[in-house]
Amino acid sequence: MNELSIEQLSDWHELNKEKNLFGRRIVFEMIEPIIKNLSNKFIIDQLGYSFSQIPIYKITIGNGKTKVLLWSQMHGNESTGTKAIFDMFQFFDNPGENISTASQILKECTLVFIPLLNPDGAEVYTRKNAQGVDLNRDVLDLKAPESKILITFLKEFSPKFCFNLHDQRTIFSIGKENLPATISFLAPSESAERRVTKGRKVTMAVITSMNKVLQDIIPNQVGRYTDEFYPTATGDNFQKAGHHTILIEAGHSKDDYNRERVRKYNFIALLTGIHHIAIESKLTNYKLYFDIPNNEKYYLDIIYKNVFLSNRGQMVDVGVIFKEELVSDEIIFRPIIEHIKDLSNYNGNVIIDYEGKVFDNEDKLKEIIEY
Ligand SMILES: [Zn+2]
Repeated sequence: MNELSIEQLSDWHELNKEKNLFGRRIVFEMIEPIIKNLSNKFIIDQLGYSFSQIPIYKITIGNGKTKVLLWSQMHGNESTGTKAIFDMFQFFDNPGENISTASQILKECTLVFIPLLNPDGAEVYTRKNAQGVDLNRDVLDLKAPESKILITFLKEFSPKFCFNLHDQRTIFSIGKENLPATISFLAPSESAERRVTKGRKVTMAVITSMNKVLQDIIPNQVGRYTDEFYPTATGDNFQKAGHHTILIEAGHSKDDYNRERVRKYNFIALLTGIHHIAIESKLTNYKLYFDIPNNEKYYLDIIYKNVFLSNRGQMVDVGVIFKEELVSDEIIFRPIIEHIKDLSNYNGNVIIDYEGKVFDNEDKLKEIIEY
């Protein structure tokens, strides 16, 4: 059994990641030429079309017995997983010093990727598809063609493992220091009782292996999502149907609004998880999953400390979150006031001390802060 060298993987990523993809908005016209140019190690098939008739592809590599399905961007504005998937294509094509890791994975696993499951949402930078359907809550109704594509292929392929790749908002924090939740995981429940079933234990063990590696690179910035059961959620239903389903939420890292640093962490986490699957590692204790701290909501984009509001006659803090908007093909981050209160138990990407600066009222504050 060979060990993954995380330093080596990290260096590889800096030099060899997919350079044609960058930033938050990843759309079909960016990925299509890359897919068409993939080497003959990859098998490319079209699975169907989105509601607005944009093609949805699957890409297969490896021919091992363990079947793994990965999909990304079922929420159109959550693109970090897509970038990490294309970095993995580069990796398997040209692993350099990591050749033994890559060959081992491809010998043991058949990997199928469906990048950009919701190309219509990606186009207009929305979570939902063109019909206004949340694909992550459509697994029973199957109102959206994109959901049908995913479930039809799931049934045909019957993967042992699934990776469901999302992005979470900047508001999530972890631990006493309220560091940003840079990567969060979930082993979805199979029922409202949230029992730790045999299937969930296997899923948790994969997550534990990924967490172990990430803690070395981003200590105390890895979180765990609530395992409350969502009867219509994709992951919960896939897990229930016997496919070990790992949810990964890529999040914020200090100043990383393009999510390029977390893209690397996502890439490393994915390779670690798949490597764990490939070597059928029994070394990881699934119980360590419960040591991963829960996601909290104590992180803001900007905190203005010590603002004096005349109409209240008191000192307050002002918490700002960025609203992401698509304006002529660019994502802009519009600051919106979320809290006016004591925010001493919050952390922020930027913290500015206003040292008692006086504002007449909330409207005056808005004029200055929301632009
Ligand atoms: Zn999502």
